[in-house]
Amino acid sequence: MAGLWHLSVREAGLRLQRREISSVELTQDCLERVQQVESRLHAFITITPEQALRQAQAADQRIATGQTCPLTGIPLQVKDLISTAGIRTTCASRMLENYVPVYNATVVDKLLDQGAVVLGKGNMDEFGMGSSTENSAFAPTHNPWNTKRVPGGSSGGSAAAVAAGLVPFALGSDTGGSVRQPAALCGVVGLKPTYGLVSRYGLVAFASSLDQIGPLARDAYDCALVLNGICGHDPRDSTSLPQPATDYTSGLEQELRGLRLGVPEEYFTPAMQPGVRQAVEAGIKALEGLGATVQPVSLPTTKYALACYYIIAPSECSANLARYDGVKYGYSFQDTSNMWEAMEKTRQGGFGPEVKRRIMLGAYALSSGYYDAYYLKAQQVRTLIRQDFARVFQQVDALVAPTSPVVAFPLGDKTADPVQMYLIDVCTLPVNIAGLPALSAPCGFSEGLPVGMQLIGPHLSEATLLRIGHAYQQATDWHLRRPEI
Ligand code: GLN
Repeated sequence: MAGLWHLSVREAGLRLQRREISSVELTQDCLERVQQVESRLHAFITITPEQALRQAQAADQRIATGQTCPLTGIPLQVKDLISTAGIRTTCASRMLENYVPVYNATVVDKLLDQGAVVLGKGNMDEFGMGSSTENSAFAPTHNPWNTKRVPGGSSGGSAAAVAAGLVPFALGSDTGGSVRQPAALCGVVGLKPTYGLVSRYGLVAFASSLDQIGPLARDAYDCALVLNGICGHDPRDSTSLPQPATDYTSGLEQELRGLRLGVPEEYFTPAMQPGVRQAVEAGIKALEGLGATVQPVSLPTTKYALACYYIIAPSECSANLARYDGVKYGYSFQDTSNMWEAMEKTRQGGFGPEVKRRIMLGAYALSSGYYDAYYLKAQQVRTLIRQDFARVFQQVDALVAPTSPVVAFPLGDKTADPVQMYLIDVCTLPVNIAGLPALSAPCGFSEGLPVGMQLIGPHLSEATLLRIGHAYQQATDWHLRRPEI
C-alpha cells in the first residue's frame, strides 16, 4: 500500500484504529519516502529502520488488542539533542558523534509508552545554535520547497522531514525560535509550549532557562495530539510545572467570535520582506473574518530582546557546555599526558565555530567585572520584556505576528556574518525570554516559499493558540500545500 506517508497524525491514527492500514505498512511507506528524498535533504542524522519496524509490529499487536492511543503506530523523528537510549544522540556535533545515551528523555519514554514509532534522529544546528541548520557538523539540511535554500533552524531537519512527508510529526526544541522558525520556512506547524509544560529531562541543555521541547506537524490538530502525548509534570525536571493532564484537542472546534487579538507593531520591522508582510496581513484579515477582533498593540521592549537573548543564551550555554571536557562524554583528545592540553584539544576539535563563539561570548558576559554590566543587565531587561507581555495580555487574548521576517534564504547566504543570522530571530526570541507559548502556522507564500504566522499567548494558553490555528486551517488551505520533491 503506497502513498500513506502523506497522512496526517490524526488521519493515520484513525485509519490504524479502524485497521484499514497497519503501522508496519505506514512505517515502511515512510522509510521508502526517506530513501527517495533523504539524499537531497539530509533531514536525518541517524535513521533506525530495524528498530522502527520492530516498534511498528508491537504497535500493530497493541492495536489488535484495542489498547490504543492516538499516537499508537505513528512514526516520528526526534531532534538529535533529545536523548534516545541505545541510539546515538549527537547534537549535530563532533563532540558527541559517537555518544549513545543509556536512557530516554521523558518525552521519548512517553511516546514509546503510547506506541509511537521512532524513525530516527533529526538534523539540526550544533547544540541548537543557529537559524539555518548549516551549523550541523555533518551536513546542512536542505529545504524541500527549494533545495538550494535553508530549512531554517535549529530544528531544520525536523521541519524538512515533516514538510517532505518523511514523518507525520517530529519533536524539535525551541530556545529562541528553533521550532517555530524552521516550521515557518518549511510550511509546517510548530508549537513552542510554555516553559515547564513539557519535561526537559533528557534534552541536552543549551540555555536551560529558555529551552523547551515542542512538536512540528502539518496542522494544529496534529500538534494538539502530540502535545497531549508529551506534556505533563515530571519529577525528574525541577522546572516542570505541576499541570494536570489536559486534552488539547477538546476545545479546538470552538469558534473565534469574541476572541481579542493584538498585532504588535514592533514585530513588523523594516527588514521584513514585503511578501512576508502581505501574507501575514492576509492571515490576520482571515482571523478577523472568523470573528476575532483585531487591535494594534505595542511591546516597546522588543527592540532589546535580541541583545538580551544573546547575553543570556550564550551565558547559559558556556556553563552548560563546560561538561564536555573529554572525560565524561563523547570526543576525547588522548594524544597527550597533560590533562589541561587534553581538555583544550578536546574542545578545540569537538566544537564547531558557532558553538565556540557562543561559549566565548557567554564566558565573557559572566566573568567578574562584566557580570553586572552584561548578564545582570540582561536579566533586568528580561523582566521588562515579561512585563510588556503581561500588560498587553490584559487587553488581548493572543498576539498575531510574523514568525520570521524573511522566507527561506539561499544556503551560504548568511554564514559569513553571524549577526545577520541572529537578526532572523527578532520575532521569536521574546517568547522564550518571557517563557510564553507560541504557534507558527503557514499563512501563504512569497517567492514560491512558505510564510509563517505566529500566534503568541499568555502562559499556559496552548489550548487557545491551537484553537486559533485550527479555526484558521479550517478556513484556509495553506497547510495542505506540499512541496514537489
Ligand atoms: N537561532 C537561535 C540561536 O541560534 C535560536 C536557537 C534555538 O532556538 N535553539 O540561538
